[in-house]
Amino acid sequence: MVFNGEGALVLKKSKRIPKKVCLEFLSANMDWVLSHFRAIQDDVFYEDKMYCFGEWQEFSAVCSELEEAGILEKILKRIQKLMESKVKVESKSAQIQSLQNLWIGSIKAKDIRYKRVLEALYKGLLESYVKKRIEILTKAMNLYPSAIEFGKSYRQLGCCYAKTQKIRFSLRLSLMPKDCIDSVIIHELTHLKYQNHSKVFWDFVEKFDTNPKISQLWLDTHKENLRIYYKVFKY
Ligand SMILES: [Zn+2]
Repeated sequence: MVFNGEGALVLKKSKRIPKKVCLEFLSANMDWVLSHFRAIQDDVFYEDKMYCFGEWQEFSAVCSELEEAGILEKILKRIQKLMESKVKVESKSAQIQSLQNLWIGSIKAKDIRYKRVLEALYKGLLESYVKKRIEILTKAMNLYPSAIEFGKSYRQLGCCYAKTQKIRFSLRLSLMPKDCIDSVIIHELTHLKYQNHSKVFWDFVEKFDTNPKISQLWLDTHKENLRIYYKVFKY
């Protein structure tokens, strides 16, 4: 019995188990079910803020992040094109308004064209951060991947291909705090040296990461993250 990313309760059973047993199981666990539904209802979903790097941020803060990543102009141009606006977005308030339009168009209006631009925004932010961190960490760990790729997996935050020495990160990381991203980078770089999660693997990880379970712990205590991930990346 699980809650999926849309917030629905899913109960899986094998054919041999009669429906009656399932209903008994459900009523025996009703307290758990109700507490989860309550938690989902309490989730706030802002329209005047954007979820980025593990927290709700003001659009002005997202603007600064985009500027730092060197993609602000590119993203604003794409939003302008979507809105068929010829006016150049120059003032800070116009930039903030553009980002808010993108956020609402993607999340509330669920417009696929807006969602694509929003995904490019998150990818740009994550790519820029990962690039910056990987430059430092590869040197410190003396481990170098052959290439870095990005995917959209929600289960696997990172993945290392032993044969090709490539590393793939999930865009879901852009919805997680930066120290969680660092931890995933260290974990995947270590897989270039040790394929399995053996003792030597963790000993090596711990040389660079004082809290190697931080991303799992954070996800366990921020259940809303999965629902935001679905809203942003599933379309
Ligand atoms: Zn691993």
